[in-house]
Order: sequence, then structure tokens, then C-alpha cells
Amino acid sequence: MIQRNATRAVRIGRVIIGDHHPIAVQSMCATPTTDVDATLAQLRLLEQAGADIVRIAADNRKDAQALIRIRGESNAVLSVDLQENYRLAEVIAPHVDKIRYNPGHLYHHERKKPWKDKVAFLVDIAGENDCAIRVGVNAGSVDPEKFSPGEDENSVAPMVESALEHSDLLDSLGFSRYCVSLKDSDPQKTVAAYTAFADVRPEIPLHVGVTEAGMPPMGIEKTRIAFEQLIGNGIGDTVRVSLTLPNDRKHEEIIAGRQILTDISAGRVRTVVHFNPDRLNLISCPSCSRVENEAFIDLAHKVQERTRWAEEHALTIAVMGCRVNGPGETDDADLGLWCGPNYVNLKCRGEKLGAFRYDEILDRLDTELARLVENT
Ligand code: SF4
Repeated sequence: MIQRNATRAVRIGRVIIGDHHPIAVQSMCATPTTDVDATLAQLRLLEQAGADIVRIAADNRKDAQALIRIRGESNAVLSVDLQENYRLAEVIAPHVDKIRYNPGHLYHHERKKPWKDKVAFLVDIAGENDCAIRVGVNAGSVDPEKFSPGEDENSVAPMVESALEHSDLLDSLGFSRYCVSLKDSDPQKTVAAYTAFADVRPEIPLHVGVTEAGMPPMGIEKTRIAFEQLIGNGIGDTVRVSLTLPNDRKHEEIIAGRQILTDISAGRVRTVVHFNPDRLNLISCPSCSRVENEAFIDLAHKVQERTRWAEEHALTIAVMGCRVNGPGETDDADLGLWCGPNYVNLKCRGEKLGAFRYDEILDRLDTELARLVENT
């Protein structure tokens, strides 16, 4: 038995999170949403592995129509990830059980419209369509207005502030059927963000996860560290393990999530856990429908192999699957790669080095890594 915070119950379709209900394990389809057959196949794999909730992204109207077709073929508990296009909620909400929005993404469309009006729109849609909401704050795309001049860019304060602000707004709109997430790719920062939020709002159910955790086994290890410290302290009502995996192995996220929860409840944890900051840190996104070249997954695994020689060096390499979020999410890495359809972009400490073919990027990465190691 895991002692849990007394959060309020939130119903998501036939699943209830919070209020001491079992911790729900969830994942997200990484196939293009418009490929209905592939997405349904992945959805079924995730369900067979024991997924309680499955998230599917909708970026545009074609995705929305595909998601409606997917719903027609499946009775899984479905969450839609609205990405930047919040108005799609109107089309999709009647067909799903939960809407996830990212506060940092509410600025991308209809820039002149106040974000509070956009949230009010989402709340109305959710209320009319029996949907729950997740306020999904992510370190790579925090609301820009939350950064004060001179603020330490490693601070988790802007994430916490954004999550608290949105919670207050949802409360003021009379909407309580929501949960919150505050994910970072660094497990210790993830723990700090969730803990700070739960100190102020212990009653709000939390969706816990380390974003862009990378590949197994390191990605599972990072997630385990965060889950042990959070869930071991009563924080967390639903979890997702975000791993970079080929599409036919995506269900391993569910298997890993269940295994970590089983270990925590059986007391198979380390009392003091620290992710080793003195070694090479590889972060990579779990992929999603935005991936334009599936070679991304293979590339991420090859980066892991190719950079093993530098394991003893405290450097961070980030590998991201798309051109939309990749540029921003690699900003803090020593070396960052993000994948387009034909080229992989490379940057070093925020400075773009160029775009390279998939068959030439590893050599260039190796050269840049050697240069950093020599100068560190
Ligand atoms: S970086 Fe791009 S491909 Fe990767 S999970 Fe984020 S949006 Fe999807």
C-alpha cells in the first residue's frame, strides 16, 4: 500500500483518479494521428499492456477527424492533446474523456485574445461534453510571461507559478474536474516542481512524469528516481513514463510504469536516490504524431551507442523528434539535435551549427562532442 495525499476525485471517462483510487497508468500514441490503422494498432497494444488512459494528439482538423474515427473503433479512455490549437477542443471534446492543454501553448494562436478567455472557452467545452481537463505544464514550453528578468533559467518557479495560476483560474470558473502536471527532463527538478505545487494545493490530483526521459534503461531509471521520491511521499494520482521507443514497443512505457509502482508499493526503493549529474546525460523525447521521419527513434538509439565513450563527462545531449518543439527543447543542452523529414539540425549550447543528413549527423555529433570534452 502506498500512502497518498488526500486529493479530490476526478473522473476521466470510467477511470477515477485521486481520492485514494489506484494510480492510473497512461501513455500516448506516437503514430501520426491521421494514420488511423497504425494509431488504432498502437492504442490496442497500450491497452493490452494495461493502459488506463491513452492520449492522442490533434494538431489540425485532419487529426481531429481521424481521432473521431479512432473513437468509433475503440472504447479506450481517451485524452486529446491539443498541442497549440486550442479551438480544436470544440470538434473533439464530444468524442474523448479528457482534454490536455499546455499553458505555454495558449499564446501561439489568436495572439491578441487573452489566455484567460481561451481557458474559459476550454472549460465551457469540457463542461458541456463531460470531459476532464489536464493543465499540462512542461519545462520546455513554460508560459513566457512567468519568467522575471534575471531569473535563473534552471528555476522551477515559473512552472509552479503557471500551474498555480491556471488552477486558480479553473477554480474561479467553477471547474474542479482537473488535474495538473509539471514535467521536466531532470528528475530532481521534476520532484522539486511537483513538491512545491503539492505544498500549496495538496487537494489537486497530479499527473506525474519526467518528460523526455530518453531511452531504456536510463529513461526508466530517471523516471524511477522521480516516482520514488514523489509517490513515496504521497504525490501522484496518475503516471506516465515517457520513453523514446519504436512504435511497436511503445507499450513498454506502461510495463515500466506498472513495474515502478509495484516496486514502490513493495518497498523496493532506495532510501536516497540521486540522478548522477556528473556523467553524460542523454535526454530524448518520447516521440508523438509530429515525428516526420521515423528514423528519429533509430537515431536516438545510435546517439546513445556512439556517445558511450564520453560517459564520464558531465554534458547533456538532447535528441528531439520534430521541428516544432525541438528547437526550444534543445536550448539548455550542450548538444541538441532535432529531426526534420530529411535533415537533422544540430546546435551547441544554443547556437545552431547546421542541418545534416541522417547518415552524416553522427560523425558531426562525435566531432562536436570531442571538442566539448577537450574544452571542459
Ligand atoms: S519534441 Fe516533437 S516529436 Fe518529440 S514529443 Fe515533443 S512534439 Fe512530439
